[in-house]
Amino acid sequence: MAKPASRVKSAEYRNYINGKWTSPESNKYIENRNPADTREIIGRFPASSPQDVDAAVNAASEAFSKWRRVPAPRRAEILFRAGEILIKRKSEFARDMTREMGKVFKEASGDVQEAIDMTFFVAGEGRRLHGFTTKAELPNKFAMCTREPIGVCALITPWNFPMAIPSWKIMPALVCGNTVVIKPAEDTPLSTYNLAAACEEAGVPAGVINIVSGHGEEAGAALATHPGVRLVSFTGSTDVGRTVSQSAARSGKICSLEMGGKNVVMIMEDADLELALEGVLWGAFGTSGQRCTAASRVVVHKKIAKKFTAMLAERAGKLRLGNGLSDKSDVGPVINQDAVDKILGYIQIGQNEDGAKILCGGHRAEKGDLKWGYYIEPTVFADVKPRMRIAQEEIFGPVVSLIECRDLDHAIEIANGVKYGLSASLYTRDVNRAFQAMDNMFTGIFYVNASTIGAEVHLPFGGTKATGNGHREGGTQVLDIFSEWKAIYVDYSGKLQRAQID
Ligand code: NAD
Repeated sequence: MAKPASRVKSAEYRNYINGKWTSPESNKYIENRNPADTREIIGRFPASSPQDVDAAVNAASEAFSKWRRVPAPRRAEILFRAGEILIKRKSEFARDMTREMGKVFKEASGDVQEAIDMTFFVAGEGRRLHGFTTKAELPNKFAMCTREPIGVCALITPWNFPMAIPSWKIMPALVCGNTVVIKPAEDTPLSTYNLAAACEEAGVPAGVINIVSGHGEEAGAALATHPGVRLVSFTGSTDVGRTVSQSAARSGKICSLEMGGKNVVMIMEDADLELALEGVLWGAFGTSGQRCTAASRVVVHKKIAKKFTAMLAERAGKLRLGNGLSDKSDVGPVINQDAVDKILGYIQIGQNEDGAKILCGGHRAEKGDLKWGYYIEPTVFADVKPRMRIAQEEIFGPVVSLIECRDLDHAIEIANGVKYGLSASLYTRDVNRAFQAMDNMFTGIFYVNASTIGAEVHLPFGGTKATGNGHREGGTQVLDIFSEWKAIYVDYSGKLQRAQID
C-alpha cells in the first residue's frame, strides 16, 4: 500500500498511474475544501491534462493484456482482501468523506459500507461469471457462451457517493478482467484515492486501476474520447451524461449512463402517517437532498394532505444543521457555492410560481459557525402543482414539494409526469394498490412503505427515461456492462457442416 508520504506531498496529492503516485504533467492542482467549514483545506489534487489521461490510458492498456489472463477467482481473491482493508479502515475513510463531501458521519459510514458490500458481492462473482451451454442445430457440434472482458474502461463519477459509486464501477470492471482509469469528481477525489489505496494494499497489480483527478471538461472529456478506451461508464447529471454519450458514440465506444432523478413518495389516505413522515424526512433531507434517489416530490392524498403537511413542516423545521462530524447534526452542508446558488435559485423560482407556499426553511443558514459552510435550511413547499418547475426539475438540495392528489391513479399520473425515471415509493396498507403502483410506475426502482432511498448492492440499480440508457449497475446485471458475450462452437464431427444449409 502507498504510505501516506508517497501518496501525499504537503497535502498535495498525485495521480495514480501504473502503480505510481505521479505528479500531474500540468503541475496544476484543484483545492479540495471542507463544505462544512471552507477554512479547512482537505488537500490539493491534480488538475490533470489530456497528457496525464493519455499516460493513464496507456498504463491501463498495457496492464489489460496480463490482468485479463489472471483467472477470475484469483482476481476476486484480491478484491476480497480489498474488502477486508475497507472494513479495517471504515471509520477513517468515513471521516475523510465527511470532511470532503459534508454528509453526516453516519451516512458517510454507510457510503463506505456500500463500497464494502459491493466489493464482497462482486468478488463472489469471480467464482461464477456464469456463461451457458446450449444445443447446436447440427450433430456432433457443441455450443457455449462465455463472458469476456472488454478492455480499458473510463469511469467518470459524481461527488455525492464518493466511495460507493466508484466501487460500483471499479469492482465489477476488475472482476470481469478489465482495467480502469477513473476520473473522480472535482469536489471529492480523496474518497476515490482511499478506495484505490485499499486496492493497492490488497495487491491489485500496477496499471489495473489508474486515477486521474481533474476538471470534467478537461480530464473527463479527454478520458471519455480517448481512442484507447473501449467503454465509458458515467454517473452524473443528465446534461453531462448526454454530452459524454454523444462523444463516446462518435468513436464507437460502449457507454453506460446513470443520471439525474426527480423521485417521488406517494402517500395514500390509509397509510401509516408516522411511518410515511419518517420516510419523507429521510428521503428528502438525508445527504442534504443530494442523492440521485432523493425524495423531492411528495404526492399526498387530499383526505390526509392537511394533516400530513402540518406534520412534515413541524418535523423538518426541527432538523439540526451542522458539521457532519458532530453527532448533534442531522443535516450537513451542500457541496459548494454553485450548489447553494442553484438551490436558492429554485427556492426563488418556487416562491414566484403561482400558488406554491414555503412552510419552513427557504434560506441559507449562516448563524454562528454555519457561516463558514454551505448550509441550506430544510425547505418544504406546499400547494405545489405538478407542472411547476420545482416539481419537474432536479434541485439536488434539501427542498421538498408537496402535491395533492385525488386517488392512486391520479398520484401515479403525477408521479410519472416528469422526464426522469429513477425511484418512486408508495405508502399504503392496501396490497392491491401497492401492486397496481408497482405495475404502473415507470421507474427503475420502486419501494412500498419505505422511502425512495436505500438500494442494496445485489439488486439492479438505475433508471428509465432521462435517468439512464438501459443499463443497470448493481446486481449481477452489472456484469452485462463490464463484459461482452462470446459465442463458441466446437464441431467434433470431423467434416464440414453448414449451419442453416445442411
Ligand atoms: P456532473 O454531471 O456535473 O459531473 C459528473 C462527473 O462528470 C464529474 O466527475 C465531472 O467532472 C464530470 N464531467 C463534467 N463535464 C464533463 C465532460 N464534458 N466530459 C466528461 N466528464 C465530465 O454531476 P455531479 O454534479 O457531480 O453529480 C450530481 C448529478 O449526478 C445529479 O444529477 C445526480 O442525480 C446524478 N447522480 C446519478 C446517480 C445515478 O445512479 N443515477 C447517482 C449519483 C448521482
